[in-house]
Amino acid sequence: MTSPTLAALLLSALAMTAIVAVRYVAASGLFAWLTQRRLPGHYAGLDAQIRREIGWSLASAAIYGVPAGIIAWGWQQHGWTRIYADPHAWPLWWMPASVLVYLFAHDTWFYWTHRWMHRPRVFRAVHAIHHASRPPTAWAAMNFHPIEAAVVGLFIPALVFVVPIQAGMLAVVLMIMTVMGVTNHMGWEIFPAWLVHSRAGNWLITASHHHQHHERYRCNYGLYFRVWDRLCGTDAGLAAWQRRRSA
Ligand SMILES: [Zn+2]
Ligand SMILES: [Zn+2]
Repeated sequence: MTSPTLAALLLSALAMTAIVAVRYVAASGLFAWLTQRRLPGHYAGLDAQIRREIGWSLASAAIYGVPAGIIAWGWQQHGWTRIYADPHAWPLWWMPASVLVYLFAHDTWFYWTHRWMHRPRVFRAVHAIHHASRPPTAWAAMNFHPIEAAVVGLFIPALVFVVPIQAGMLAVVLMIMTVMGVTNHMGWEIFPAWLVHSRAGNWLITASHHHQHHERYRCNYGLYFRVWDRLCGTDAGLAAWQRRRSA
């Protein structure tokens, strides 16, 4: 490998790490600010926890960013991956369908690796860091041990080599991943009750659902959808916010 190639690779890895870190700080910062406005004092007494959440999340940014940077470089230089730019390269219906395929595939990967991470030895060694967020805050979105960050964060970079996706649709997937990662940990429900308790809401994961996972551990393992939790009998329903907030 020539040194200009190596320099370009390093630069791409560094740039992508910076983008992931800035995306995290912007998204978590925005929703933490919103929490402060909507529910002043909601994160009172959690300063030390929030500092740990930010520290681990920034380390995760590098674990997400370096492979993503290498792939972005390979995409531009060598046409790696099945990411395509021209929306007409595939039938137009594939654009929204690919977003659903990506989300469902990521959710499936997340559900089963998450259950694995709740095996006692793996939990103690790896996943306990994520569960140290009690209650989680908007800063906990990427609060992962490096091994967990790699398990969670390398799935989409691998999937782009297998399943074709238009570049803009990939951005949509990443945006949904970022927003749901933050809002699911916010400690309150941002989505309206009519949606959360609707027929569609029964299959979607929002904070009301993931918060239960942080309180009760061995239930509600999913990421976006409740499909696997329901199929496998691990769905414990939604959090009782009133009881928790008065506790
Ligand atoms: Zn969580
Ligand atoms: Zn867990």
